[in-house]
Amino acid sequence: MMYQELGINQETAIFVQKCEQKLEKVFKKIDKNADKNSLKVLNAFHKYQISEVHFNMTTGYGYGDIGRDTTEKVFAEVLGAEDCLVRSQFISGTHALTVALFAYLRPGDLLLSISGTPYDTLHEVIGIKENTSSLRSFGVLYDEIDLVNDDFDDEKIVSYLKEKSVKMVEIQRSKGYSTRKSLGIQKLERIISKIKQVSPKTIIMVDNCYCEFVESKMPTEVGAHVMVGSLIKNLGGGIAPNGAYIAGKKDLIQLAGERLTCPGEGREVGPSLGITKQFLQGLFFAPSVVASSLKTAVLASYAMEQLHYQVEPKWGEERADIVQSIIFGNPQDLISYCQGIQMASPIDSNAIPEAWDMPGYEDQVIMASGSFTQGSSIELSCDGPIRPPYIAYMQGGLTYSYGKLGVMKAISKMQEK
Ligand SMILES: *Cc1c(COP(=O)(O)O)cnc(C)c1O
Repeated sequence: MMYQELGINQETAIFVQKCEQKLEKVFKKIDKNADKNSLKVLNAFHKYQISEVHFNMTTGYGYGDIGRDTTEKVFAEVLGAEDCLVRSQFISGTHALTVALFAYLRPGDLLLSISGTPYDTLHEVIGIKENTSSLRSFGVLYDEIDLVNDDFDDEKIVSYLKEKSVKMVEIQRSKGYSTRKSLGIQKLERIISKIKQVSPKTIIMVDNCYCEFVESKMPTEVGAHVMVGSLIKNLGGGIAPNGAYIAGKKDLIQLAGERLTCPGEGREVGPSLGITKQFLQGLFFAPSVVASSLKTAVLASYAMEQLHYQVEPKWGEERADIVQSIIFGNPQDLISYCQGIQMASPIDSNAIPEAWDMPGYEDQVIMASGSFTQGSSIELSCDGPIRPPYIAYMQGGLTYSYGKLGVMKAISKMQEK
């Protein structure tokens, strides 16, 4: 058995291969969507006649950087947005979200999250957790409306918008470290049209992390004014070494540029330092890499359900993002599973992860990530807080073969105990 070289027990290897056979239909659907998205990408490359010229680097201020400016046009085209900033000067998704929030909100403005409490890293940005540089410290007000049954609370949102003047609505699609479902494009389209009816001036911003290319439409194609995502997730295709994007209405992208660099210079500065080739190549790969991640997630979902663990989403369900939750019910299985993922990683495969007290988190957290790019979660990775019900959040997989090996190794490791 070839899998034994990786320390995968034979029984597990046979079991996972049997699972795989049941998933042909779902995989076909994933491939079809990847075809659609690849076509979109290729068309954008052709429209802007990408050539080697666009891989040239600029340094210093980065004035007149044709590669950078054209790369941004290609991304905008693919994202169905009027305009886009794609920069390595965004150091993370959180940074890009922060730039957007500070670009659009002024003292006295009200920010409303309609998908419950936002992602952990935004708490200090907004001022949910105190920080002397938060939006709150500048006098920006914040409120939130929870989801109901994993969907928007339309009634409450509409009446809130009628009652108060809301400058900006924030929608987070992916679930983060919560137990809710991620929000698909149809739900988004519905609520966006309602928001626009009652409050046409409100800026609608979507945190699109983990969702790009999972479906065939983007939030900016169903009415969102602006959306934000990280390039060490879906859109970077595992090639972009860092960076993030903000895409949307022209005037909003202009404002974001003024905040990213400085008023007056805006998006006209910011040297590419030779990164445009990686951004474009990453975008080129992204539809396929997202498909590989989705297949890996579906395989894990099916296999773990067969082993009587609770999973979210289930294998046949529509997906909005690449994240697969597995509910272990006990800490040992969670830890073993994560260790198995690490052991099947290309990088740091012998660094066995353990639960530790990560700054900013209340419980201990275990993290498996043996990635080429530090913290990249379009590469196979798995993590979870050590608290009941002991959920692991698994995502990524640059290719399906490596993803499958990861799932096999994780299950095998778990069953050793
Ligand atoms: C990953 C992620 C972010 C941004 O995280 P960074 O690690 O700063 O790139 C924001 N929101 C959600 C939902 C995410 O998944």
